[in-house]
Amino acid sequence: MPSSESELAGRVDDVFGRIADAATAADRDPADLTTIVVTKFHPDTLVRGLYAVGIRDVGENRHQEAQAKARSTADLEGLRWHFVGQLQSKKARQVRAYANAVHSLDRLSLVDALGSDEGESLDGFVQVNLTDDPARGGVRPADLESLVERILGTPGLRLRGVMAVAPLDGEPRAAFARLRELSDRVRALDSGADGISAGMSHDFADAIAEGATHLRIGTAITGNRPDAR
Ligand SMILES: *Cc1c(COP(=O)(O)O)cnc(C)c1O
Repeated sequence: MPSSESELAGRVDDVFGRIADAATAADRDPADLTTIVVTKFHPDTLVRGLYAVGIRDVGENRHQEAQAKARSTADLEGLRWHFVGQLQSKKARQVRAYANAVHSLDRLSLVDALGSDEGESLDGFVQVNLTDDPARGGVRPADLESLVERILGTPGLRLRGVMAVAPLDGEPRAAFARLRELSDRVRALDSGADGISAGMSHDFADAIAEGATHLRIGTAITGNRPDAR
């Protein structure tokens, strides 16, 4: 195995070990957590390397890059693509074609554009903005219920739960506690939508402690991004 491959395998082992430790510390079963490895800015060879060590869930935040990688790795059976970035409604149908899940449902027009009467249903997470800055993406907590109702009424979408990114300033744990309360509000409308997509390289332990079910981890596994823009 070339050294970069064994390094990758080592980082995967290390991070999964830390995830298991955080789950145990929170009295949770690590098997209940889905870890999505965010491969943005990395070439498809990295996706293949991850697949070789057993990763089946990968994430991207830009449509063009995601589409290209999904195409060039289409031979990898059982690989699931999670779209985690801000999404333009006009790209929605194209994203549907390769993605298994969209973690960034944040407005009515996007939900409408993603709906479909045909094909397999697409998993969706409502992204909630935990800051006062509208540019950060996500629905305002005040608008959560109306967006959830729209998703529940849209064919071809299966609501899985909530998603958020912890604010840059402040305690991630407090932000994830807040997200958990928002998750309770969503579950009051659809008891099956009990997923919580939260936790990145530097805050996944806090997210796990507050009930995260889907972790989105980039650099801790992939190493530094080649040309972060
Ligand atoms: C890039 C990205 C991640 C992963 O971030 P790391 O800090 O590299 O773990 C998670 N979620 C979203 C929405 C991202 O864009």
